[in-house]
Amino acid sequence: MSDANDAAFARAQEALPGGVNSPVRAYGSVGGTPRFLVSARGPYVTDVAGREYVDLVASWGPALLGHAHPEVVAAVQEAAARGLSFGASTPAETELAELVRERLGASSGVERVRLVSTGTEATMTAIRLARGATGRELVVKFAGHYHGHSDGLLAEAGSGVATQGLPGSAGVPAPIAAQTLVLPYNDLDAVRAAFAAHPGRIAAIISEAAGANAGVLRPDPGFNAALVALAHEHGALVILDEVLTGFRVGPAGWWGLEGAAEGWAPDLFTFGKVIGGGMPLAALGGSAALLGLLAPLGPVYQAGTLSGNPLSVAAGLATLRAADAAVYARVDAAADAVASAVSEALAAQGVAHTIPRAGSLFSIAFREHPVRDYDDARAQEGWRYAPFFHALLDAGVSAPPSVFEAWFLTAAHDDAALDRIREALPAAARAAAAA
Ligand code: PMP
Repeated sequence: MSDANDAAFARAQEALPGGVNSPVRAYGSVGGTPRFLVSARGPYVTDVAGREYVDLVASWGPALLGHAHPEVVAAVQEAAARGLSFGASTPAETELAELVRERLGASSGVERVRLVSTGTEATMTAIRLARGATGRELVVKFAGHYHGHSDGLLAEAGSGVATQGLPGSAGVPAPIAAQTLVLPYNDLDAVRAAFAAHPGRIAAIISEAAGANAGVLRPDPGFNAALVALAHEHGALVILDEVLTGFRVGPAGWWGLEGAAEGWAPDLFTFGKVIGGGMPLAALGGSAALLGLLAPLGPVYQAGTLSGNPLSVAAGLATLRAADAAVYARVDAAADAVASAVSEALAAQGVAHTIPRAGSLFSIAFREHPVRDYDDARAQEGWRYAPFFHALLDAGVSAPPSVFEAWFLTAAHDDAALDRIREALPAAARAAAAA
């Protein structure tokens, strides 16, 4: 039976490629009709047919506080009333940069922050900066990590590239692809071998602080610290991509949970998602010396008509100001509750699984053994996810539409929302078992 949502998708397919503006929304690996949403509040989203779902996507991360948080909405409305975009600097941009610096603390080495509009821009700029700073061209990335859709970073990428099972992207010139060395994650020997094979040629290693785009790929204890040590030994920089983890897994991101305690720091951080509270905003941060290589101070060019957009900055400031210790405790507790409920439901049906976990981020892998890298993530009974996902959706729970995506909780996931998830899980686990 066709409804308003089916009609919206049919119409969209005649206007937008695949009916979507970002491939992960297309339900490509789970099948069925992607939900067209018209509103969201707290832990819930509502589709165009009027159905409400408990949301486990949170706009792929930004909605840390829950959707349409009153303080964030008010801040954006006030900013909007003063003008949408000036193409000139605003005092609020400085406040946001200062807040980021304060959150990260002196030992992070973040002295300057540049605001951009998307995570893709942040990582693309960080790489250009690393190349400009070192005079080298090669970049190391890890298989199954996703850093946005710039040419050099799509090889063996996670997120939608993994969901669609693509090796990379058409349209990337071979000489550009050849400047990216893709290594298995959590494999320090591979990193050592890359430095040995390309002496003096590697500008940077870019790594998700904790992988969360091929399902969750948690860094082994000491892995990030060793990456920084190895890179520096060979004159290369480390770009810690916290676009997804930053300000989500804790007040200072994954680095705050790990690096701050262990005494290491990357050369550059990239942030996105939560930093914009649901508006287009991302950033890179690092030392004054390194960021001083960016235009207008230095020779590395980067710019943006809408960079530091007043509405985005207002949403980011309001989100970070509201995200106190209690918020992180609620997100952690909600993640604990859902991750254990998922595991119990699957275990009750005898479905082999593991729940990779990094802070409040987790995912499901349909295999018994732990997942340490992209090969592990792919070696699972992934076909069980589609029926699992659809059983949840039928019961009013919207999980990420791919087994290669993390689940996102918010501080607004209260008992009522968690109960709805718990009630939906047994049927979903039965569907997974029967697949
Ligand atoms: N880096 C990471 C770790 C990400 O998860 C993402 C997006 N999921 C990006 C970069 C790209 O960000 P955007 O989609 O805002 O371009």
